[in-house]
Amino acid sequence: MRLSHFDYYAPATLIEAIDLLQSKGPGVRVMAGGTDLLIKMRHAGLKPKAIISLKSIKGLNTIAFDEKKGLTIGATALLADVARHPDILKHYPTVAQAARGTANAQVRNMGTVIGNLCNASPSADNAPTLLAMGAEVHIQGPTGTRTLPLEQFFRGPGATALEPFEIVTAIHTPLPAPHSGTAYISLSARGKLDCTAVGAGIMLTLKGRVCEDLRLFIGACGPTPVRARRAEAMIRGKELTDDVIDKAGVQASEETRPITDVRASADYRSKMVAVLTRRVLRISHKSALER
Ligand SMILES: Cc1cc2nc3c(=O)[nH]c(=O)nc-3n(C[C@H](O)[C@H](O)[C@H](O)COP(=O)(O)OP(=O)(O)OC[C@H]3O[C@@H](n4cnc5c(N)ncnc54)[C@H](O)[C@@H]3O)c2cc1C
Repeated sequence: MRLSHFDYYAPATLIEAIDLLQSKGPGVRVMAGGTDLLIKMRHAGLKPKAIISLKSIKGLNTIAFDEKKGLTIGATALLADVARHPDILKHYPTVAQAARGTANAQVRNMGTVIGNLCNASPSADNAPTLLAMGAEVHIQGPTGTRTLPLEQFFRGPGATALEPFEIVTAIHTPLPAPHSGTAYISLSARGKLDCTAVGAGIMLTLKGRVCEDLRLFIGACGPTPVRARRAEAMIRGKELTDDVIDKAGVQASEETRPITDVRASADYRSKMVAVLTRRVLRISHKSALER
């Protein structure tokens, strides 16, 4: 399908981008890499009257790590850059792994982590890990800047907490606590070129042999990534025995509401939530013991 006519703007500053969003009114879309936006325009009938590209805004592609403050990924930092950044590989290996596991090399060299989040697909591969690690979204709009926990950002398929004319400028992830481990596993029928049918992301912190805290998020099994709070409660304060891990897997499965679609049946997804939960618990536990 041919793209319909649209005006294209490449502002040099965020202020200019926000002014453009306001002055052009409804029907204008922000674009980072365009790997979701342009596909929707070509194949899903999306017809924005204008596109505002963020790629010419200086500094927006910055990836910054600080031993005390943690990690900040700018809005136009590429998936490929996140996947191979030395500080991310060292301190946030699961964030790098999720970026590396998104799509293929061509898409990773165009697309961004923040575009992946703003697209708000329930199956977005970069969401569960960042949610589990307690990331925050930095937002700028006509009235100034604000910060929102990523957990409050997703509102439904394709819907976020962004107000009109707001732009996500960065995502910030705190430094992982000592003795913590993370893991992300996703399943899809056709490997990385297919959307994830089920994903599970976790951060778990140990005190001695006991799980002091954890955050577990399941992707593609609800309108937004689902936090498996009751499964978390079954584990918090306990040693990770096989019995505890098995019961938590079953509980996580009960907390999700998957649908049947072209990627998988609801029944398969439910079963796989239990399997992936068990696996991410074991992997994150092992990595927490090693830290
Ligand atoms: C072949 C192929 C395979 C793919 N495989 C996967 C996969 O395995 N896993 C996966 O999760 N995804 C996959 N995707 C989807 C896509 O590549 C990712 O979601 C990508 O990270 C989107 O980033 P982008 O910069 O291209 O976003 P864009 O397409 O530029 O934007 C996506 C949406 O977010 C909005 N937006 C972007 N940036 C901002 C911002 N800073 N502030 C406010 N709104 C913003 C845009 O308006 C748009 O609505 C695949 C796509 C293709 C084409």
